[in-house]
Amino acid sequence: MLSVDDALSRVLSAVRPVLAERVPLVDAYDRVLAEAIVSPRNVPPWDNSAMDGFAVVASDLAELPVALPVLETIPAGAVPTLTVTAGACSRIMTGAPMPSGADAVVMIEHTDGGDPVTFAVTSSGGATPGQNVRPCGGDVAQGDTVLEPGRVLDPAAVGLISSLGFPSVLVAQRPRVAILSTGDEVVEPGWPAHAGQIYSSNTLTLMGLVKRAGAEPIHCGIAPDDPEGLRAALSRCLRADLVVTTGGVSMGDFDHVKDFFQSHGALEFWKVAMKPGKPLAFGSFGGVPCFGLPGNPVSCMVNFYQFVRPVIRKTLGDPRPHLPVVEARLEGRIGKKKGRAELARVTLRLEDGGFVATPVSRQSSGVLTSMAECDGLSLVPADSGAVEGGRIRVQVLDPRFLDGATANYGWPDHAPKVDHGC
Ligand code: AMP
Ligand code: MG
Repeated sequence: MLSVDDALSRVLSAVRPVLAERVPLVDAYDRVLAEAIVSPRNVPPWDNSAMDGFAVVASDLAELPVALPVLETIPAGAVPTLTVTAGACSRIMTGAPMPSGADAVVMIEHTDGGDPVTFAVTSSGGATPGQNVRPCGGDVAQGDTVLEPGRVLDPAAVGLISSLGFPSVLVAQRPRVAILSTGDEVVEPGWPAHAGQIYSSNTLTLMGLVKRAGAEPIHCGIAPDDPEGLRAALSRCLRADLVVTTGGVSMGDFDHVKDFFQSHGALEFWKVAMKPGKPLAFGSFGGVPCFGLPGNPVSCMVNFYQFVRPVIRKTLGDPRPHLPVVEARLEGRIGKKKGRAELARVTLRLEDGGFVATPVSRQSSGVLTSMAECDGLSLVPADSGAVEGGRIRVQVLDPRFLDGATANYGWPDHAPKVDHGC
């Protein structure tokens, strides 16, 4: 059976990057940048005042108090018309360009605000050259590369691009991900569920997971447990860049998905040494890469996080396609046998500056409430037995726990090694 790391390497090596598209900045949040942003201008474009106050020649304020005549008032958005010479000053507002001749700004609170204006004696003294002056290009210099391709556009990055005057930006297109549930027993909510039938959860969890990963989910309904019905349903998925099915990949009499990939496309691998989620199938049909995820709701989600999400993020050009991993103190026990990596659902809390991970009480792969309850997944390696106490690595699912200072990224072979002591 493939290890999680080997399976991950194989799915990631199948990734083909998507094309780029230009979007207005207002639609760019959380998208992945597909171009380098090089500044065509200095920001700020000229020396300007950081305070409401008076633009002065600093050496005029060597002795305090001192009174100086006011040449003009310079509001933000205006251009100064007069040069400030020794023995005079101009009233200036925050963001207004500095008048020539002046080399410092004294905040209005340190004056009487009049004309002539008297500069008071303050604990900080008079003025030093450059005081309260924001220099031309002090934020961004013309020609600077401010953002590199692959950058995930958070609000600060979008604001930065906006400050350079660009109204739009080139980002990776969202890959389209077809989501197909399988199973004669599975019914969409809103329809009657007959005896023996259950309502689907996987379709909706996958739609959300795909969307959160930055791709466009396509709801492709539910395929029956027969090869012909499966072929018809999968054929309707081929307009997508990636197909994700759930159910029908185990050993049951009516599990046709992996056989279908094998006989109508290609089956790259089946089964990964992990719990939950062992019967993962990866292959292709009609030239489109396909993940066959297990039907059990927890296995389905756990597999998505391990394999589908990194593929989507890499497709988008994200240089960090993996979920963050933190080290945590295990409170309690994770029972396991050697041979399969254990992705137990744990809650996380911060205590004394470190993470504490507590396994949720029900760990069955059919118990979706365990996914709703947990904050992360334990990454207990395949060669480990049961663990109790000590330190473990936890893949963080709840973004509230993300902390750049403590998080590494990825599975052991994709991230800096951390001694997890198990
Ligand atoms: P399978 O992988 O097809 O053997 O399904 C394993 C378990 O997952 C069975 O109990 C199914 O009823 C359940 N299951 C399959 N598909 C879904 C779905 N879309 N939503 C919720 N449970 C499902
Ligand atoms: Mg099934």
